[in-house]
Amino acid sequence: VFGLVCLTASGFVLAWAAPEPVPPPGTPSLDPTPRSAAAPARMDRSPATRGGLPVVPVLSYDITARLDEKRHVVDARAEVHWTNASSRPVRELWIHLYLNAFSSTRTLFMRSPASSRRTAAALVEAGGITVNRLSAREFGGRDLWRDAARHSPGDPADDTDIRVPLPEPVAPGGSLHLDLGWVARLPRLVERAGYVGDFFAVVQWFPKIARLEADGTWAHFAFHPLTEFSADFGNYTVTVDVPAGFSVAATGQPTSTSTSSGRRLVTSEVRGVHDFAWVAWGSAITTRTRVAGVDVDVLSPRGHPLELEQTLATVQQSLPFFEHRFGTYPYPALHVVIPPEDAQAARGMEYPTLVMTGGPWYAPYLGLRSIEAVTAHEVAHQWFYGLVANDEHAWPFLDEGLASYAESEWMQRAWGNGSALHLPWLSVSTVAESRTAAVEYGHLEPIAQPADQFDSLEHLGALAYWRTSTLLRTFGNVYGQARLEKALGRYAREQRGQHPDPEALIGVVREELGDPAASNLRKALFERAWVDYSIDPITHASSNGAAIRSRVVVRRRGALTFPVPIVMMTGRGARKMELWDGFGASHTFESVGDPIVSAAVDPEHRVLLDDDLLNNAAAVRSPFPWRSLGRGVSLAELVLLGLGP
Ligand SMILES: [Zn+2]
Repeated sequence: VFGLVCLTASGFVLAWAAPEPVPPPGTPSLDPTPRSAAAPARMDRSPATRGGLPVVPVLSYDITARLDEKRHVVDARAEVHWTNASSRPVRELWIHLYLNAFSSTRTLFMRSPASSRRTAAALVEAGGITVNRLSAREFGGRDLWRDAARHSPGDPADDTDIRVPLPEPVAPGGSLHLDLGWVARLPRLVERAGYVGDFFAVVQWFPKIARLEADGTWAHFAFHPLTEFSADFGNYTVTVDVPAGFSVAATGQPTSTSTSSGRRLVTSEVRGVHDFAWVAWGSAITTRTRVAGVDVDVLSPRGHPLELEQTLATVQQSLPFFEHRFGTYPYPALHVVIPPEDAQAARGMEYPTLVMTGGPWYAPYLGLRSIEAVTAHEVAHQWFYGLVANDEHAWPFLDEGLASYAESEWMQRAWGNGSALHLPWLSVSTVAESRTAAVEYGHLEPIAQPADQFDSLEHLGALAYWRTSTLLRTFGNVYGQARLEKALGRYAREQRGQHPDPEALIGVVREELGDPAASNLRKALFERAWVDYSIDPITHASSNGAAIRSRVVVRRRGALTFPVPIVMMTGRGARKMELWDGFGASHTFESVGDPIVSAAVDPEHRVLLDDDLLNNAAAVRSPFPWRSLGRGVSLAELVLLGLGP
C-alpha cells in the first residue's frame, strides 16, 4: 500500500543534512543500476518452464465470474482444490470474506477510528459477499455453509473471518475438492474496493481460504483498516465476463479472449500467487509495452498523458532494478492501473502481478515525485508481499518496510537529492523525508507488531514504512551498502514462496552484517530502541603556561550502538579523526598543543536514525549559523506541508 506520500512531507529537514549515499550529484539520470556481470540472466517467461515461481501451491481456484455493471454485482462460481499441507488433521476451514468489511458501518473495518483509515470516505453504498454454495466432493456434496459461523469470532457485527467446521477431519496430505458459489456486491468505492462510474476495482471479492500453518493452526483474522492480507500460494484460472468494450486487467496472464452478444470473456491464468484481483473499466486507455521480457499493460484515464508517461518510465526502469536486487520477476505479465480522478481511493495498492498506482495529476507541476514513488513502491511489492509472502496482519513492516526501502533505493538511484521534491530552488530527497518521520515517531511504538496494534495509520506509516526504511539505510551506511544488499538479496531469494517472520530477516542480517548489526536490528524492531549522538562543549585547560589541553566528549544516548567517526579541527587548521565503536555512554578525546576548535560526531550523518542531528557538532567559535538553519528548516517545512496533496 502507499497512501502516505505526504503524511510527513515535513521530511526535508534533511535536505541539507542527509548524506547522499547514491553517487551522481549531477543531473539526475533515469538509468537504473548499471547491469554488472552479476545481473540475473534473462530467462524464459513461459509459465510452463519459467524458473523462480513459488513452489508447491496448496490451492487451486478455477473461477468464472460475471460482472453486472448496472447492478454492481459479480456473480461467481469456483472449483477449489485445497490440500492440507500441515502436519495435523484439519477439522475446519477458515474463510476470509474481506469484502464484507463494507457490508455496514458496524463492521470492524468501518467502526474503527477514522485515524486508522486511508480515506475518510463514508459508506455510500454497501458491498459484501453472499456465499450461496459451499460443498466438498469428499463429503458427498453436502452443504458445508449451513454449519458455517455467522460472524467473525466474538464479533457479531463483523463477518470477514468465518469458521467452517468439516464433517470429518482431513488428514495431512489429504485434499478437498470444493464447489463454491457466491455473489460479490461491489460497494461504491471504499478505500480500494468497489466501483465508481464505469471503473470497477474487483478486489477481495472471493471467499479466500485462510493460510494453514505447518503446525495445523490457521492464520486468520478479521479485516481491520490497518491490516492487509495473508493467504497460501495457489494457481488460478479465472474467466471474467464483462460488457464488450470494457478493458480488463487481471492477476496473471490473459490466455484467451472472446466477444459475443455484447459481452467479453477474458480468461487469465497464473501459478504461484496468493491473491487474485481484477479491474474492469469501460473508458480506460490501454497502453502495452514490454519490459525486460515481461508484458506490461497500463490502464489509465484520458487526459493525463504526463502521469502515464511517468508511470511507464518508472515501471520500465524499476522492474529491472528490483530484479537485479531481489531476483527475477517470475510471471510473464504485469498490469498497472492508474485509477480515474474520482477513484483516487483505489490508488496505491498491490496485488500479485497487478498494481494500482497514480498520484495527484498536478504533482509533476509542483515538483513532487509522488507518481514515480507510488509506482516504484507498488512494483517493489511484487517482491515484498507478492513473492516473499509474510503475514501482512502479523508483521506489516516486513512488506511495507522492505517495499519502502526498495522504493527509496530506486528513487535515490534515479533522482538523487531531488527524489521526493525537485524545484529550481529546493530539492528534497526521499531519504530525508523518511528520516524525519522515522525519528519523530521512533519512541512511541515498536516497528515489529501486528498491524491492528498501531495507534493510527500515521504511526503505522512512520514506523512500519519509514522507520524500517531508514533503519535499513542506516545499516547500509554504517556496515556497508554491499553487505546490506547481499543480505536483502538473500532474504528475497531464499524466502521466495515462503511466509517468513522477522527472524528470517534478522538471520540474514546476522550472517552478512554481523552480530552487532543483528542485535541493533532486533532492538530497533521490537524494543523501540533509538540513538542520539552528541558532543559536549569543547573545553581547553592550561596551567602555569603549559601547552593547552583540549577535551572533546562525545555522548551516546539510547540503546542502539553504531560505530561513528569523530572529526576535529584545530586552530591551525589540522584535521583529526577518531573512530568510536559507539559502545558505552561516552567517549573522551584529549589532545595537547594546537587547540581543537571544532568537532563533529558522524559528520556525514550516516546514522540516519540519530534522533537529533543538530547536536552532533560543537565549535569554540561557531563557524556555522546553526540557529538560522533551524529557523530556515521550520519555515521550509511549513511551505512544503502547504504543497502536499
Ligand atoms: Zn505498500
